[in-house]
Formats: sequence, C-alpha cells, structure tokens
Amino acid sequence: MSDSIEFDAVVIGAGFGGLRALHDLRKMGMSTVLVDAGEDVGGVWFWNRYPGARTDSEAWYYCYSFSKEILDKWNWSQRYPTQAEMARYFEFVTDHLDLRKDIRFRTRVTGATWDDVENVWTVRTDNGNEFSCRYLVSAAGPLSKPYLPDFPGLDSFTGDWYQSGFWPTDEVDLSGKRVAVIGTGASGVQIVPVVAHSAAQVTVFQRTSNYVLPARNRPIDEAERDAIKADYDNIWTRARQHFYAMDLPICENGAADYSAANQQRVLERAWEIGGFRFLFDTFNDVWLDGPANEIASEFVRSKIRAIVKDPETAELLCPRYPLAAKRPPCGHSYYEAFNRANVSLVDVSENPITEILPGGLRTATDEYEFDVIIFATGFDAITGPAEGVDIRGRDNRSLSETWKTVPRTYLGLAVHGFPNFFTVAGPLGPFANGPTMVEQQAEFVTATISFMQQNGYEAIDPNTDAVDAWVRHNEEVLEGTVLANAAVANSWFLGANIPGKPRGILAYFGGAGNYFDRIHEETTSGFPGFTFSSPAEAASETLAAHS
Ligand code: NAP
Repeated sequence: MSDSIEFDAVVIGAGFGGLRALHDLRKMGMSTVLVDAGEDVGGVWFWNRYPGARTDSEAWYYCYSFSKEILDKWNWSQRYPTQAEMARYFEFVTDHLDLRKDIRFRTRVTGATWDDVENVWTVRTDNGNEFSCRYLVSAAGPLSKPYLPDFPGLDSFTGDWYQSGFWPTDEVDLSGKRVAVIGTGASGVQIVPVVAHSAAQVTVFQRTSNYVLPARNRPIDEAERDAIKADYDNIWTRARQHFYAMDLPICENGAADYSAANQQRVLERAWEIGGFRFLFDTFNDVWLDGPANEIASEFVRSKIRAIVKDPETAELLCPRYPLAAKRPPCGHSYYEAFNRANVSLVDVSENPITEILPGGLRTATDEYEFDVIIFATGFDAITGPAEGVDIRGRDNRSLSETWKTVPRTYLGLAVHGFPNFFTVAGPLGPFANGPTMVEQQAEFVTATISFMQQNGYEAIDPNTDAVDAWVRHNEEVLEGTVLANAAVANSWFLGANIPGKPRGILAYFGGAGNYFDRIHEETTSGFPGFTFSSPAEAASETLAAHS
C-alpha cells in the first residue's frame, strides 16, 4: 500500500550536494524530504568503504564552506582523510544541522512523473512510498552506479567477491588470502598497497595503466589546523576561482618558458609536494595536447621506472596516452607495492579476462586461482544513475531515453521538458572538486526557487536554444586539450569505460571558476535561459484550448 505524502521539495541523495540542498531548502521554509538508498549519510563516502579509501583532494577544501561553525568545530586529522574520517564528518554535519529527521534511508527512488496541470512531481520509491512535490532535486551523484563487467561464470565463483563501490559495512578479512584486484583507476590504486599488507598474494589485473601521482599524505597538527581555520575565507575565494575548484596554485609559465633542466626541477618540486599540484603548478600548457604534456608524461614514466625494480613490470605500468586524458589517481605507495614479493601485475590489455572460474579466473591464455576477487572496475558515470529510474517529464518523456545518446542539459542543472527538476552534479556540470562545485549548484537551485516564489511562478523549464548553446560550448572547450584523447584512455569522462555506452562529453571542462561566474550571471540577470510559467498563464492556456 502506498503512503502518499506532500512536500515542497524532494531531494535524492545524502552526499555533499543532497545534504546541502536539504539544509538550504528547509531554511527557506520549504517542507523537504531527502531519500537515499544507503543506511547512512555520505553518498559515495557511505558506499566506497574499500580498503585504503580516502580522498584525493586535500581535507581543507574537500568539505563544506557555507557554515563558519562547521569549519570552526570540525578538525581534520590528515591531509587526505580516510573513508572512516569522511563518514564521521558527514555524521557531524548531519547532526549539527539536525538533518536526520528529514532523511529517509534505505529508500531508493524508482520513478517520478511530472504533472503539467498541477505543476507537481509524483516521486515513487522502492518501499512503496509516493511523495508529491513541486521541486525535485537529484543529487544522486556522478559516480554512484558501480560498473561490474559482464564476465561469464561469476555466479560459479566459490570464493568471495567484492565491488569497490559497494563495499560491505561488515569487516572484510583478507589476511592470508590470494586476492585478485581487477582495475587500476583511483579505487584500484588505493586498494592494492593496503591489501598487500594482509593478503598472502595480490594479483593486479591492469587493462590501461594510469599516471598515479604521489599523494604524500601526512597528519595535520594543531598549528596547521589553526592556520587553515584562520585562512578559510581565502581558501574558498581561491577554490571558487580555480579551474577545478581546488585551493591549489595555478602556474603562469608554459614549459617553453623553462630550460630543459628547469622543466625537470619544476616537475620534481610538484612531484615531491604531492597530489594534484603536478597538474596545476608545473606548466600552464600541461592540459594541452602538445609538448608540455609529453614532458610531464615522460617525467612520470621516468619515476615509475625508477621506483619499480622489475623493468618489465615498470614498462607495463607506464601509460602511453597523454597525462590527464583520464583522471589521474593519487597514490599512496602504489608503484612501490609492485616491489613486494606478494604483488604481481598482469597485463590484460591484449589478453583480456574471459571468464570467472569456480576457483579463480581465466584470461585468453592463462588461468589463475584466487580466494577473493575485488572488482575496482569503475562507474557508469554521470548519466548511469538515471538509468533504471523511470523519470518522466512533459508529454511522458523519459529521462533515461533522453540521455541515451548525448546528455543535454542547461548548465548541468536543468533538462528541457523536465520542469522544476534540478540535477546537482548532473551531466555537463563542471568536472571539479565535488564539495565546492555542488555547493555552488545547490545555491543556484535555492536562488531559482526564491525567484519563482517572489514572482508567483510555479514551473521553470530551460529553453532549447540555451541548452543547445551550452552543449555546443561544452564540445568546443574540449578541442585542443588532452581530453580529446579520453576515448583512447577508456575514460569515464566520455562514457568510454562502459561497453556500448554512446561516446559523448559528460562533464564541463571549461573551468569551475568560469562556470560559477556563468551560473551567477544567470541568477543575477533574471534567468534568461529559462521559461517560467505561473498558474494564471496555465489557466488561460487551458481556457484557450477549450474555447
Ligand atoms: P575507473 O577509473 O573507471 O577505473 C576502472 C578500472 O577498471 C580501469 O582500470 C578499467 O580499465 C578497469 N576495467 C573495467 N572493465 C574491465 C575489464 N573488463 N577488464 C579489466 N579491467 C577493467 O574507476 P575508479 O577507479 O572507481 O575511479 C572512477 C572515478 O571515481 C575516479 O576517476 C575519481 O573521479 C573517482 N574516485 C575518486 C577517489 C578519490 O578521490 N579518492 C577514489 C576512487 C574513485 P580501463 O581503464 O582499461 O577501462
């Protein structure tokens, strides 16, 4: 029996974007419910609790900026917090803002239908609830639908298998086990060195090698914590202007501004400091598909060859596509792990995994025995979470059908034909540091709704010409950058990691700072890319249709 309840707004997803949206909508006096399939808050930080899981962005800007109290009260313990620390942070924020009472956990949205007469959404969930609401905010997460390759024989496997993106909440003991790790993206490279400490043997199956940047984690002591807290206003100003919404310096010089020796010094310095600095604080043309990128790419290859003792393994670990054509992970002694006697690398680029066997797996040429298989095989990114959720807009149009080819949105936030539906971290939103990005988007959502309330509008829909222009702009900004190689590198940026998924740009690469200016301009100039309608207009249209 369904339990129909009316709200002003329904928010999907209890990660950074959803919790911020819930808080802001409630502050506006709107009755709001947030639904999440997980058992607790955190979004990806609830599900991705695999061994070694921690952030790749530095703690002090991978968090909420909006509440001075939260910034003052919360103390980060290390440069890159672990999943457990992130989970504690989400609990702290949720309790501090008293959000829990408006969250329904273990509740998955199965569909939503727009009613063009009443201007409301009806949202359905897997436990039979039906909510009606004027506004539907999807903050379901860009990387929330783990991808499991369709290997035949998985059902027959007699050991245990796990997916990095659906890691169980119960303790997983891998000590003394023979473990296969399939996948060498940001998840796989965090898993390998940690599992290697307890497992008897770790075999890493690599299809595409990665440029793994050393993270160089360290504890944050009291003095540094105080300095960070005192600097927060500047941190957020810098992060909001940064190309990827991070508090990281952006260098002004191109590679050609340095002598060959100084190029190496610049790269070495960023490599030693660690993290994503290597992408921003080296050469300003490293993101272009040209010589600067190759110098930086070759520098990383030289580091791999210096770290990994076995030359054959080192060569297999060296990527051949340009640095940053796919999202480079941050590593914690990843390459060093291959010097351990219990870690080995199997190249499956030309010798693919063909079958899972009861006792292990088979590639085209060899068989391997395992007790445990870990699939760190990525996500059906950005559009994937909408698949299987039956969202219907005007004229019963299906969202997943609309997004089947290339997803079309306005500013990554709204889809033509789906009124009053906002996609926080949706397709063609910026590829950027998540928390900073979704906070700006959540603010856009509440600014839009305030505007509608002030002007007596009940429905908002982006215009097709605005959507077309935004999609075109997204395509243009890719030209000439290393990202044009993303398909070669099987990157999720283009959907190229999922067999059969249409290739098309999924995120905006024109710079987070530029994007924030763009949505701010949209807000301050009266939302020129949207059409609003009020009940009076709807009534006169209905009258005209019947006269
Ligand atoms: P990913 O980067 O897409 O990596 C998936 C891995 O699985 C790739 O190495 C892929 O190989 C491999 N794979 C897929 N199908 C395979 C098959 N049939 N046979 C063999 N190998 C196969 O996924 P991810 O590591 O989960 O990371 C995804 C994104 O999530 C990251 O880019 C990042 O944005 C985010 N993330 C962030 C963090 C963090 O910040 N700490 C941690 C984890 C994830 P190919 O490359 O050849 O396709």
